[in-house]
Amino acid sequence: MELKKSDCIFCKIAEKTIPATVIFENEKVLAFKDLHPKAKIHYLFIPKSHHDSLAEIPKEKMDLMTHLYSAIQEVSEKEGFAQSGYKTLINTGRGGGQEVFHIHVHLLAN
Ligand code: 5GP
Ligand code: ZN
Repeated sequence: MELKKSDCIFCKIAEKTIPATVIFENEKVLAFKDLHPKAKIHYLFIPKSHHDSLAEIPKEKMDLMTHLYSAIQEVSEKEGFAQSGYKTLINTGRGGGQEVFHIHVHLLAN
């Protein structure tokens, strides 16, 4: 049973009840364009299951992070910016600048 949170905007994007420009999807991961891009390419990678933040992922579920970064590798190769380079960023908790409390990795490239 996948974890969902009814008031979570990224869960709603994952279940396609609110729209987003999806750029990658597999069984565990969804990636879509950030609504307010801070670089030419600005994508968000989320697990389809809900966890508030990196701090809230239980150790036995940490393989989710491997799935997220594998997806980032795949997209960066497919879209041709793996060689030129990119940044990844995870904001964790209010003090870490997190605004949407469903773990996500920012991918930024120019
Ligand atoms: P955080 O500060 O939590 O790491 O980043 C949240 C990001 O989600 C921000 O860059 C913001 O622009 C993006 N965002 C917030 N709401 C939506 C939304 O409804 N759709 C999309 N595509 N991005 C969103
Ligand atoms: Zn969620």
